[in-house]
Amino acid sequence: MSDIVFILGLNYDSNCYLINDNILVDTGAGQNKEYLFSKLRENGVEPEDIELVVNTHCHFDHIGGNHFFPNAKIAVHKLDAIPIKNEDTLGTAASAFGFDDASNSRVDIELEEGDEIADFKVIHTPGHTSGGISLWDGETLICGDTIFAGGGVGRMDIGGNYEDMKKSIEKLMKLDVVKLFPGHGPILENNGKEHIKMSYSFL
Ligand SMILES: [Zn+2]
Ligand SMILES: [Zn+2]
Repeated sequence: MSDIVFILGLNYDSNCYLINDNILVDTGAGQNKEYLFSKLRENGVEPEDIELVVNTHCHFDHIGGNHFFPNAKIAVHKLDAIPIKNEDTLGTAASAFGFDDASNSRVDIELEEGDEIADFKVIHTPGHTSGGISLWDGETLICGDTIFAGGGVGRMDIGGNYEDMKKSIEKLMKLDVVKLFPGHGPILENNGKEHIKMSYSFL
């Protein structure tokens, strides 16, 4: 099992997850650099130690801090790479967060279903965006903004789709998820599967 550290997102920032001291899943909106760096350092990790940034999806509250990690390769699903590469302020939701520039990230690796990142497998979970991914290691599911603790579901009005969301949650319900690590709000150390079912019932 990978070593995972949860970094709670401040303000608009997504949650970030540090895996094995050298992989960071999501980087927040880029407004709280010192906070993010201090959380890494609390765990003995310097920003330059991060070799890989994985974005669960292309929204600005998850990619806005990518440029804090110039040594890292940036990985995102191939479909969500498109709005990032196009600096699309609507597709990345930068404009929805009050930013008129979405040009501060690049994409080095375009991910697909089944790709492996440390002990995790990439699961394509569109619905919140077309190229949203979850990461699954057999116990822990890092699910981006697809679902949230307590049965929430990510909004589907910025690059998302209800039918895709339904299919994605059906896919996730088949997994025996213990720990559920969403893109915002609290994490669950237990009973993740129950919260995924709850999310489906609220759809
Ligand atoms: Zn988000
Ligand atoms: Zn989002």
